[in-house]
Amino acid sequence: MKANIKKSESFVCEVPLRVSETHAKILNARFEAARQMYNALLGEGLRRLSLMRQSIAYNRARAIPPTDSLRQNERSNLFKQARDTYGFSEYALSRYATQVRDSWLGEHLDAHTVQKLTKRAFSAVSRVAYGKAKKVRFKGKRRLHSVEGKSQGSAIKWKEDQVVWSGISLPLVKDALKDPVIAYGLSHRVKYVRLVRRVINGKDRFYAQLVLEGKPYQKPEHILGTEIVGLDIGPSTLAHVGETQAALTMFCEPIVRNHREIRRQQRHIDRQRRANNPDCYDEKGRAIKGQHPSKKSRRMKASLGKLSEMFRKEAAYRKSLHGRLANQILSVGININTEKLSYRAFQKTFGKSVGVRAPGMFVEILQRKAESAGGGVYTFNTRTTALSQMCHCGEKHKKPLKQRVHECTCGVVMQRDLYSAYLARFVKDDVLHATEASLAWSGAESLLRAAWRNSQQLASGRAVPASFGVFRSQSESSEKEDLVERKSLDVVAFEREPIRAQSIVGS
Ligand SMILES: [Zn+2]
Repeated sequence: MKANIKKSESFVCEVPLRVSETHAKILNARFEAARQMYNALLGEGLRRLSLMRQSIAYNRARAIPPTDSLRQNERSNLFKQARDTYGFSEYALSRYATQVRDSWLGEHLDAHTVQKLTKRAFSAVSRVAYGKAKKVRFKGKRRLHSVEGKSQGSAIKWKEDQVVWSGISLPLVKDALKDPVIAYGLSHRVKYVRLVRRVINGKDRFYAQLVLEGKPYQKPEHILGTEIVGLDIGPSTLAHVGETQAALTMFCEPIVRNHREIRRQQRHIDRQRRANNPDCYDEKGRAIKGQHPSKKSRRMKASLGKLSEMFRKEAAYRKSLHGRLANQILSVGININTEKLSYRAFQKTFGKSVGVRAPGMFVEILQRKAESAGGGVYTFNTRTTALSQMCHCGEKHKKPLKQRVHECTCGVVMQRDLYSAYLARFVKDDVLHATEASLAWSGAESLLRAAWRNSQQLASGRAVPASFGVFRSQSESSEKEDLVERKSLDVVAFEREPIRAQSIVGS
């Protein structure tokens, strides 16, 4: 029965809570207690880890190579002995947590919440133990933003449209049920509740993240397409090509423009920091080693608050733009082919703009949405397919990154990213099926051409990025071809609606 519950699908629905000032005070005290508890558990976990690592049993186990199949039993027994002796397990740590709860922390924290904190702390320390992380991060003041219950039977639970936690109940904000996403979520079984605190415009706001059983809400207006979509992802651009729709777009164009405001604010704060901590910089303005500029004036604190609000808004806006773009692609098709890319390498080569546009995050969103719609994002190996060099006629053309147009002796002239996205549609099991691509080309050429031409006018009216390549109409374009082009233009269903940056990074 229990295993069944664990395996069932789940999704998260976040609902805003109405919290009075008295309750906010209580909650803040509990979050602070949770933070101290978490830090205490991290500290104890690390202490036990280091003792265990010094123990004889542990080192004898280490001396047995994991490849020595005859001594594996001995090896794991020794490890177990070391763990048991020094209490390096979630269970042992939870007994320690019970002791800590005997202090003032116990007034604010119930056993279930502490159990979840123990689990969280132990998994952080385990990551260090298994070499998956270098160190754990202790939470600074007001840096722990969420606590959660274990199940609906725990102290933090969801009951009749409110969060109930040790004597206080926090109702849903008025009218929240009018939101179809929330209404949909609340019609599902609640597995457990996470309580989240966020600072918005300098004020504490509380939310319940309900972990629910079932599939996430899908807006009814999101049509799902049936075509296979090829995708080409650049550091700032995205080309996608289906059978009847294609487009070349930019990631998060308005955000990149607004990011200047953030940079201005960062420079402002830097000047304030220097003015507040003159001893930390030498006469040339360089930071002096070992001197931490920790003094903050009241004004600087206000500036920092403003900056974090700007970042929060930017992230929220980026997420919504990514979501919109992903929905556009899914309306063409839910099965998507694209090259496997290293986003870290992207960041190294192309720098900051990648972070602001976050193509990697976009792919994650697209993947999640495609999967929940019953499709998926299939990635293939760049090295074996090398789409940017291939032509469907079979020829290979190595070209530098700055060359934005694919041009082949067989007569193909096409914007490079669009062409790669086209070819991506015909990749199966890491192999490009060039014959199929070649057969389909005569039908697809005018569509891609229209997408390329469309890309030459950005909705924002800004200059077209060089990476889009200068549009070239086919020199021998006959009347007949013109007709085909016009027809296919109607098929390109991507209205380039002006995406305005209002309300984001307001002054
Ligand atoms: Zn060719």
